[in-house]
Amino acid sequence: MFTRPPGFTYKKDELHCDGVSINRLAKKFGTPLYVYSALAIRERYRTLERAFHHVRHTLCYSVKANSNLSILRLLAGMGAGFDIVSGGELERVRRAQKKALKKVVFSGVGKTADELRLALRNGILLFNVESEGELELLATCASELRKTANIALRVNPDVPAETHPYISTGLREHKFGVPIGNARELCRRAAEHKYLRVAGVSLHIGSQIGDVAPFHLAMERAVELVMQLLADGHNIRFIDAGGGLGISYNSAAPLDFTDQAHRYAEAITEPFLRMKKPFPHLLLEPGRSIIAPAGALVTRVLYLKRNGNKRFTIVDAAMNDLIRPSLYQARHEITPVTFTRARSERVQSDVAGPICESGDFLARDAMLPALTPGENLCIFDAGAYGMSLASNYNSRPRAAEVLVEGTRVRLIRRRETIKDLLQEEAACL
Ligand SMILES: *Cc1c(COP(=O)(O)O)cnc(C)c1O
Repeated sequence: MFTRPPGFTYKKDELHCDGVSINRLAKKFGTPLYVYSALAIRERYRTLERAFHHVRHTLCYSVKANSNLSILRLLAGMGAGFDIVSGGELERVRRAQKKALKKVVFSGVGKTADELRLALRNGILLFNVESEGELELLATCASELRKTANIALRVNPDVPAETHPYISTGLREHKFGVPIGNARELCRRAAEHKYLRVAGVSLHIGSQIGDVAPFHLAMERAVELVMQLLADGHNIRFIDAGGGLGISYNSAAPLDFTDQAHRYAEAITEPFLRMKKPFPHLLLEPGRSIIAPAGALVTRVLYLKRNGNKRFTIVDAAMNDLIRPSLYQARHEITPVTFTRARSERVQSDVAGPICESGDFLARDAMLPALTPGENLCIFDAGAYGMSLASNYNSRPRAAEVLVEGTRVRLIRRRETIKDLLQEEAACL
């Protein structure tokens, strides 16, 4: 039997999210269905908060990990700020909680003039500037609107982090940030603009990082730069340490989150606390570490088939619903929603969806008990980079999402219909 984070537990033989049977949710809302535990989200947010209690800080939840409005509102209600990477994400934060706009940091290498103006008008906290060109465009937009922008250069600390190459971002060869060696000169130039205020330094070295040592090394480099910038006369009020803390996708190697959060906070604050007082305000941009284990994807078994020696479990969810296995070679645990001891014998099977691609799979060589078509499976740790990366490939409507709190269930995104899918298109000619 799997031991899961708070939120997902077996009661008798049936998997529940908080106090609600997942089979019942599947029956009521259909599958594929994303199910989130409000309890688990709150608990993980608070755990991170507590780990950093000894320094002035704000957790700016990374919207791209899971951008559902209800989830953003839940986090805003707990005091979260937000890390956004587009104008669309800014609008989401505005709709979730207007006053949270004051705690928004804006990252990304390709911000457009429209997006910069939108963020300026909404009075966000900080622009994490990723190039000299962006600095100039922001200066132009800010003087047009006569609004002062707080900026932090996003520096590339050239720190390797053990993770999948697609989600590693802190190396010289990556597109992100500016080389740390150019930062002083760029800040000097930025300070000459009337409407730009050099207010911080930011970095983000990647995602799903298990070892805390790279966070420490990157922070040491950032702190060194901050001390130089202070000496150059800039009023550095913020250090943004980015996100990237990994989770365990394997219940056989569980991570105690309290312990992990403390090790992470220690790695980040140790170099930070070596500075002279007053310390800058520490910003963090956690996404996955808050939301991934708090969500699961529920899917129904359609067919069982064998091609030669290989077994396939064909389910109604696919790579358009959860692309992490196809894109990042991610492994998610999958378990039947109804689990009796009599079913403990396992057979090896791929779990795949209906999409016409060999790359469409949710698990390779999963060990699953004998299954029956029509029963539900639960794919764990799908709360981050699941729904937010979902697409309509193969003209598949996107899944519904529900948020469970105790015994209360809220539909936070209705299932897309084929009509929704087609309404933006015209059949010309
Ligand atoms: C994606 C991203 C994050 C969040 O990363 P997680 O691994 O989900 O914590 C934070 N900051 C920036 C700039 C990002 O691009």
